[in-house]
Amino acid sequence: MPPTPSDILHRTFGFASFRGQQEEIITHVVAGGDALVLMPTGGGKSLCYQIPALCREGMGVVVSPLIALMRDQVEALRQLGVRAAALNSALGNGEAGRVIDQMKAGEIDLLYVAPERLMLSGMLALLQTCKISLFAIDEAHCVSQWGHDFRPEYLQLAILHEQFPTIPRVALTATADTPTRGEIVRQLKLGEGRVFTTSFDRPNIRYLIAPKAKPREQLLHFLNKNHKRDSGIVYCLSRMRVEETAEWLARHGFDALPYHAGLAADVRARNQDRFIKDEGVIVVATIAFGMGIDKPDVRFVAHMDLPKSIESYYQETGRAGRDGLPSDALLLFGIEDAGKMRSMIEGGDGDAKRKQLEIRKLEALVGFCSSARCRRQTLLEYFGETPPKPCGNCDACQNPVATFDGTVAAQKALSCVYRTGQKFGAAHLTDILVGGDTERVRQFRHNALSTYGVGREYTRDQWRDIFRQLVAQGLLVMDMEGHGGLRLAHADKCRPVLRGEQSVDLRELPAAKVARALRSEVAGKRRGAEAPVLEGDAEQQLFQNLRALRMKLAKAQNIPPYVIFHDTTLLALAKARPKSLEAMSVIPGVGAAKLARYGDAFLKAVEG
Ligand code: ADP
Ligand code: ZN
Repeated sequence: MPPTPSDILHRTFGFASFRGQQEEIITHVVAGGDALVLMPTGGGKSLCYQIPALCREGMGVVVSPLIALMRDQVEALRQLGVRAAALNSALGNGEAGRVIDQMKAGEIDLLYVAPERLMLSGMLALLQTCKISLFAIDEAHCVSQWGHDFRPEYLQLAILHEQFPTIPRVALTATADTPTRGEIVRQLKLGEGRVFTTSFDRPNIRYLIAPKAKPREQLLHFLNKNHKRDSGIVYCLSRMRVEETAEWLARHGFDALPYHAGLAADVRARNQDRFIKDEGVIVVATIAFGMGIDKPDVRFVAHMDLPKSIESYYQETGRAGRDGLPSDALLLFGIEDAGKMRSMIEGGDGDAKRKQLEIRKLEALVGFCSSARCRRQTLLEYFGETPPKPCGNCDACQNPVATFDGTVAAQKALSCVYRTGQKFGAAHLTDILVGGDTERVRQFRHNALSTYGVGREYTRDQWRDIFRQLVAQGLLVMDMEGHGGLRLAHADKCRPVLRGEQSVDLRELPAAKVARALRSEVAGKRRGAEAPVLEGDAEQQLFQNLRALRMKLAKAQNIPPYVIFHDTTLLALAKARPKSLEAMSVIPGVGAAKLARYGDAFLKAVEG
């Protein structure tokens, strides 16, 4: 009798029940069906192919694009007592030969393989001689030529369907956008398969967006307040900013390391390794860092500069909190950054259609950042979902900014832009509105305009803020090539406002901007999905002791601590304080193999 999916869930993985659609997907694949699984990061995709592979006869073949990812997953499976192996270019000939011998002998349950390795003709021929339970295609969005993770070898994977027509295939991705989903189905010839879609919500991530004022101080304040000893990722746009920020954090007592394409390969590898195998390390990186890193306990992701689009923002922030415990995503939003990015896109090479698409995506992102609505609602709606209510776990929900009817202010600002010929920057326009007597005002005779001095109800700082908000709302466009001159956006957007047919809501104008910028990364309660919360010093202390023990065991094997136990398991141990192996076996994440291997050590630590 082959084992059932729930046997394996309890015995091997140590989990009490399936999550979301896992059971349905697993049943479908065990019965031989093809599937496309769309689930957010941390949703529990791996079980959807690992369990069917262990239920069905033969070896499961998992196509995975990144060696680091493969190594971690193989190690995690071995810790669970599963016979897993990897084949990729990092293996020496001897090692690869051994894996191939084991394949031939039927001694492997799960084989992780790089796509280019799989496509070698010898490899496919070898697989034809093995008993295969299923093919899993992980990170399936790598087939998309439009995405930034495009891998040409993925395009050839349709061949699996032709050469192994009776073996079920499961493609998995955390990509939320619809065009990419369509492309996966087309390219992998998955038309006959079932598509399983889950909500892309990541309830344990708290989204925080704050106006960028003094970015490094803001970051420091945020970390000191929320993430004193946590590991996390800080994204910056340029290499120089990466270096500066990493140094700054290190100077302030954080274990921060830089990561960007300009560093020597061995330095990059070393920094990445420390991030994975140590605790409390912060990596400051350009966006090149993160894909293929499965570290479940990344507690925060901070963007010092704007990501490229809402899709990128979702993907990059999604690297936080895979384990379901409360995590933060902080973005410092500067409207000037948006202008710079816009001119970078316009000045870059590439065809006009693509540029236009990128600009539209940037505009959507700017709209998202500058809106006062619940972040999660806006995000999920962008991906085609209809979230029921404001989430209570984002800056907009926890710390709502007051808005006011700014229609008259907007009309004054827009008409001032129009009457001065749509070429001056916010500083000069402000001078005109408040009736300033400057050399430029006199030089251009702007004191004769009908808008001269009509805006004395606001201070200069407040007018600057109004202009920024009008740019953010897409009513004004900033010319970044020249001197930051402002012009009216599309006539059909501005005209109704100027005619008074459409009102404009503005965020409350700040008296002291920095104070508010800091305020908006909030206190509020943080949420996690069903996460146990430690109470009292004794539980805290025990949790720290368990972490230390885990670290010692991991160091001895040179593996990341989380492949031994996730934080969720340690939290549950610290709360339940089991006194026997039997009691310990019901803790989530404690399967038979880990119980046998680590049970005694952890019981002793619990006893104290
Ligand atoms: P994904 O690949 O979708 O990002 P993973 O497969 O890595 O997600 O799972 C995310 C986390 O959820 C892991 O810590 C995993 O052990 C845990 N997990 C997955 N399924 C279950 C389950 N049924 N019960 C408890 N924990 C689970
Ligand atoms: Zn919200």
